[in-house]
Amino acid sequence: MRVMRSCKEMGIKTVAVYSEADRTSKHVFYADEACCIGPAASRESYLCIDKIIEAAKRFNADAIHPGYGFLSENAEFAARCKKEGIIFIGAPAEAMIKMGDKIMARQTMIAAGVPVVPGTQEALKDADEAVKVAMQIGLPVMLKASAGGGGKGIRLVWKKEEIADAFNTAQSEAISSFNDGTIYIEKFIETPHHIEFQVLADQHGNCVHLFERECSIQRRNQKVVEESPSPLMTPEVRAKMGEIAVRAAKAVKYEGAGTIEFLVDDHLNFYFLEMNTRLQVEHPITEEVVGVDLVKEQINVANGLPLRFKQEDLSQRGHAIECRICAEDAENNFMPDTGVIKQLQEPLGIGTRVDSFVYEGYEIPVHYDPMIGKLIVWAVTREFAIERMRRVLYEYRITGLKTNISYLRKIMDVPAFVEGKYNTKFIAENNDKLSEEKLYEAEKSEVEDIAIIASYMDYIVNLEENSPKTSDNRPISRWREFGKRTSMVRI
Ligand code: ADP
Ligand code: ADP
Ligand code: MG
Repeated sequence: MRVMRSCKEMGIKTVAVYSEADRTSKHVFYADEACCIGPAASRESYLCIDKIIEAAKRFNADAIHPGYGFLSENAEFAARCKKEGIIFIGAPAEAMIKMGDKIMARQTMIAAGVPVVPGTQEALKDADEAVKVAMQIGLPVMLKASAGGGGKGIRLVWKKEEIADAFNTAQSEAISSFNDGTIYIEKFIETPHHIEFQVLADQHGNCVHLFERECSIQRRNQKVVEESPSPLMTPEVRAKMGEIAVRAAKAVKYEGAGTIEFLVDDHLNFYFLEMNTRLQVEHPITEEVVGVDLVKEQINVANGLPLRFKQEDLSQRGHAIECRICAEDAENNFMPDTGVIKQLQEPLGIGTRVDSFVYEGYEIPVHYDPMIGKLIVWAVTREFAIERMRRVLYEYRITGLKTNISYLRKIMDVPAFVEGKYNTKFIAENNDKLSEEKLYEAEKSEVEDIAIIASYMDYIVNLEENSPKTSDNRPISRWREFGKRTSMVRI
């Protein structure tokens, strides 16, 4: 949906691919054409390169935008598109290969003079070597999958006797998730901030950054809330990190939109963490603050156009926050929830943006990610952005399945968040405040809404049955009798 919206504005026709489980997904209806590429299992559809190429050829597509999941960081796919004469709207395969493997990325960054998290530059042979190396680096350490992503294949170790076990579990998770059990070690940066820089590069050697996103509100190493600018940042560090981010991108001859992730400690020392060679989920906050449509720029770059702006043309204006809306049960260990969306009322109004693909009556499939939308606000200051986020979370109503909306409301009230003094330990440290039962106004009125609707329906049925009828048997008293109250009821 995100990509097609920009295409529509640019007058570009779109073909959506979908799996059998996504037949009723909104993107299928939004596209000019749609093509089913197989069953629900992503291996047989969204991850099947042959089927996607075949669909592109059948519809004569000039280009493929891979979105931000599945094959978006797959070098084989990017190379295959090129071979077939189809433009891949993403990073060059060579840059993906260099950055996709975290060990190789670390080596490349060290060579380019980019500071990396202290740790090994080689893969670990086995658990014994893991113990030896971890003791040299000094505990605590992170064991990490070289092929890792999405927070998987990462283990934090505090004690010597836990290292071997952690190595084995990280390795088996890495094998099952990425089909690659290569593990390396990084020093654990305590109280770290995850701050990333958006970069944009063209095919003519130009590269700029679009400033930072603060992504330290994480659960199990996965982002939940993001904001831009980062409340931790100073203008000097921002300029320095931005310059390093551009250097990192240039070191791999990057093209298109990409993200350089850094870990930053309380003293604003920063270390390269990894590069995401694609558009990211949290890209809208950058778009709101910098005033650039990143998807349009991706398309222009892939089309061979030079960047429309230089670094000095770009600046940050105001403040943006994004909340990830997920179909999950915050009270039951964030178990993904599925089912039919009964009611959906998305927030509207000044400074509000909802990027989503769901609608009333839509059944969330069990097969994919539980994220069903992103809620983004923009306001002139951070304080106003938080107030606005509270307001739009109040307006957001989804019934029929469990979502994390009330959990997000609680985050907006935690003092450490409000003050902008938090790091990646935020959720663990504020677990008591985030798990306490708190019925927000929105939830209270949700209960009332349902009661009103139920009694209103009874009332209508009753009224219709007992009212005088028109000659063609339509009840005529309904609206008159009920008068002004009709406007407050949603049916
Ligand atoms: P992924 O590819 O899964 O996104 P990352 O390397 O980006 O993996 O790490 C994900 C998250 O894990 C980071 O945002 C950070 O919160 C935490 N993390 C990773 N490495 C370290 C480290 N060396 N020290 C402290 N935290 C880390
Ligand atoms: P109000 O108290 O808000 O003025 P009305 O009784 O005038 O309410 O109804 C509002 C609107 O509903 C009017 O435009 C009217 O044409 C329409 N309306 C009223 N009764 C009916 C009916 N039985 N069927 C269809 N429309 C009706
Ligand atoms: Mg990451």
